[in-house]
Amino acid sequence: MIYKKSKSLLEEALKYVAGGVNGRLGTFNHYASGDTPLYIKNAKGSKIFDVDGNEFIDYQAALGAIVLGYSHDSVNQAVKDQIDQVSVTGMNSELETEVAKKIINDVPCAEQVIFSNTGTEATTMCLRIARAHSGKNKIIKFEGVYHGWADWGRVDISNEALALGGLSGGGSRLSPIKTIMESGIPESVMNDIIVVPWNDPHTFEEIVKRHQHEIAGVLVEPIGPYGLILPKENYLQTIKEICSKYGIILIFDEVKSGFRVSLGGGMEYFGVTPDLAAFGKAVANGFPIALIAGNKDVMQTVAKNQVFHISTFAGNPVSLAASKATLNELEKPNTYTHLYTKMKKLASGINDLISDQNVDAVLFGTGKNLSKPGPMFGIFFTKNENINDMRELRLEMNEHNNIRTEAFQNALLKRGVHLRTTLGPQFVLSDHTNEDLDKTLEAIDYAFKYASSIHTG
Ligand code: PLP
Repeated sequence: MIYKKSKSLLEEALKYVAGGVNGRLGTFNHYASGDTPLYIKNAKGSKIFDVDGNEFIDYQAALGAIVLGYSHDSVNQAVKDQIDQVSVTGMNSELETEVAKKIINDVPCAEQVIFSNTGTEATTMCLRIARAHSGKNKIIKFEGVYHGWADWGRVDISNEALALGGLSGGGSRLSPIKTIMESGIPESVMNDIIVVPWNDPHTFEEIVKRHQHEIAGVLVEPIGPYGLILPKENYLQTIKEICSKYGIILIFDEVKSGFRVSLGGGMEYFGVTPDLAAFGKAVANGFPIALIAGNKDVMQTVAKNQVFHISTFAGNPVSLAASKATLNELEKPNTYTHLYTKMKKLASGINDLISDQNVDAVLFGTGKNLSKPGPMFGIFFTKNENINDMRELRLEMNEHNNIRTEAFQNALLKRGVHLRTTLGPQFVLSDHTNEDLDKTLEAIDYAFKYASSIHTG
């Protein structure tokens, strides 16, 4: 494949745009062969088309913002109609209540809703609500989970810290070493964030007990770190019970899983309802909107104006029109059954290829749950089929496996499939056709062979 125009556009961009890309995984995105990110000209359904005339079946789905398919007709039409009326006034519109009612119907924890613009804003607002409601400051979050770019969210546990603390756990699990993941963030934000290992109910309860009088909320991505390391059986239920026991607000970050693994998100998929949740991405099939949904008790803090929630574009009619049209599509009978059928076909095909070729690779995510294959998946090069937390995953992300992964992904691109399995989950869309899935499996067949043939030193 030729990426000539993409390369020259990157060169030009680097002169004017710091780093050449805008907030889209930065330099990580320089991946197509020849080290250039792809410049996309247009996208329709399951396909993206780059400026060099290459066509790809896409599974990255705009980092999870697309659930139906790109440039969906009814969503686009709703947006066009809305733009002809008004884009934003900073005043009220009927759409706010219409979309809120839909969310309340669809999402188990939603008794009241407020709108925002991005997932980062929504998760940050959840923390503020939990702190205002409880009068406490500390938040528990889990190792390796991405909640957005806010200061508090960039407190995690690094590879180095894990190595120092002992990757296999032991005593270190009770006092995990926190790290600020980037510069530009003051040390003080670490004070109120407690980072705990995933899938370890015992350590979780011990840490809650220690800090019980200080904890405002527990923030959980229900589908697990990376959106791929699923909770063990009853783990979410146990977290909920411990939160209830100690009077702590349970918050789900459903920014990736919401309207994706089921209409009601991860909470419906796993049957565990939190007090409060953040949604974004798929809720408007590619238009910028996020929301906070919670029970009436916690949402009182907003209703009574105890917390500050102001934003120029919050609840703007264009994004709401997109959301209403998207939800109309998602609420149609069998939407999720169809998505599960497609995911099952892809997952079974991938697992067959792994065993036929005897590749050291494992399928992750809700997609591997063949009784309920939620359309989120990832493939890691590892022999370990039982990775339960970020510590174990990081151990597998060694140079050998990383080289194979890069080779695998680039081989897929050559065969017309855009599937970035390392940077979080990939997604099966309503618009993926059976033909797309067949072609994808052929490409994966080739890419596994290619990646296995690579000498990794
Ligand atoms: N929470 C989760 C689980 C996410 O995956 C993301 C983004 O990838 C965010 C929050 C942040 O959302 P946004 O990029 O819209 O700010």
